[in-house]
Amino acid sequence: MKKIAILNCLKANQNCSGNGCFKALNERSGGFEPYKDEEVEVTAFTRCSNCGKTTDEDEGMKKKLDRIADVGTETVHIGVCARAKDGTHCRFMQSHADYLESRGVEVIWKTHAAH
Ligand code: SF4
Repeated sequence: MKKIAILNCLKANQNCSGNGCFKALNERSGGFEPYKDEEVEVTAFTRCSNCGKTTDEDEGMKKKLDRIADVGTETVHIGVCARAKDGTHCRFMQSHADYLESRGVEVIWKTHAAH
């Protein structure tokens, strides 16, 4: 059983239900294709707590990331909403990704394919 979490952009919360991520997960498509023959436990579906703050500047966000790591999440998938059109990673989300990796959690910058 693979333990995963999904992390997305807070701004996307304005118009995103999260369905695209869960559809891809249920279909094992996009970033979830590697789990085709595996059961998955989703430990968290969360978004940035604030926009424009690095992990070190955001106590609440750090707490959420710690929780994700503490419950044994193996891989965190970050949505396409946290990337610019040219594929560049949001630098604040990058800090969250770096923090997760420092806690031993693998990070994959993919949930569903870009719309
Ligand atoms: S910090 Fe980046 S990923 Fe997070 S809400 Fe702001 S733009 Fe979105």
